Amino acid sequence: MTSIRNALNNAATTLVSFDGAMFESELLLAHLLKKSRTWLHTWPERELSKAELHAFKVLVERRLKGEPSAYITGEREFWSLSLHVTADTLIPRPESELLVELALAHIPHDQPCNIADLGTGSGAIALAIASERPQSHIVAVDLSAAALTVAEGNRNRHALSNVTLIQGDWLTPLNRDSFRVIVSNPPYICEDDRHLNQGDLPFEPRSALVAMENGLRDIRRIITSSRERLDIDGWLLIEHGYDQSLDVMQLFKAHGYHNITTHQDLSGQPRVVAGQHHPTDS
Ligand code: GLN
Repeated sequence: MTSIRNALNNAATTLVSFDGAMFESELLLAHLLKKSRTWLHTWPERELSKAELHAFKVLVERRLKGEPSAYITGEREFWSLSLHVTADTLIPRPESELLVELALAHIPHDQPCNIADLGTGSGAIALAIASERPQSHIVAVDLSAAALTVAEGNRNRHALSNVTLIQGDWLTPLNRDSFRVIVSNPPYICEDDRHLNQGDLPFEPRSALVAMENGLRDIRRIITSSRERLDIDGWLLIEHGYDQSLDVMQLFKAHGYHNITTHQDLSGQPRVVAGQHHPTDS
């Protein structure tokens, strides 16, 4: 018989080449036993049945072959929301919580605002904002119908009825609306970037990762089209690659945004540029 503690230690040894091998092992075992990671820590001596141990080994093998644990378990935490994710959606990243934090700073608690999230994927960013600003209405757009199905499931799971999901190409489906804040985590990786062959990325939808024109094509389109869709004084916030902040700031400037700022993620990489549609432009 093998205890939870021993099974986790063995799995962490098998997965030693992965960052956070013990954390990943715990995610897989918690998923299998339909318990929380805290429960595993509370009952480390509990013996696993033969069937449980076998099933756990199968999950660890899948992870060893590179399959992301978020796709194996179908779950990922983002902004304290448990989200369903599939291979049709990008796996929400902790660094994208910066985008949520910065957006919230521009969205008042006590009055309704229109917000747009472009390229919503699993809905992570839109749902995080919606959960913090119940008075606001968030329109979440994605080109992928499969991704929108996942986002819809997440919206219903968290009962966030202040989110509307729309299929389309960036701002194109949002005809006449004007927004207090537009946020986006678009694809921004160059098509020949070696990171595409590393970590979880080979398993994720390429359309959510890769953009033409040195990774800047979609960012450029969003910057160009957002200006006339923002409220007077409204904000555009865009996530970008670690080496793109100067280019992105330059694009904001070239398209007449004001108060342009760059923001670092938790690992100290420039990750978000924000800019404002200024009253003097109108
Ligand atoms: N931040 C992701 C990565 O580099 C990419 C996500 C994106 O392209 N929007 O792994």
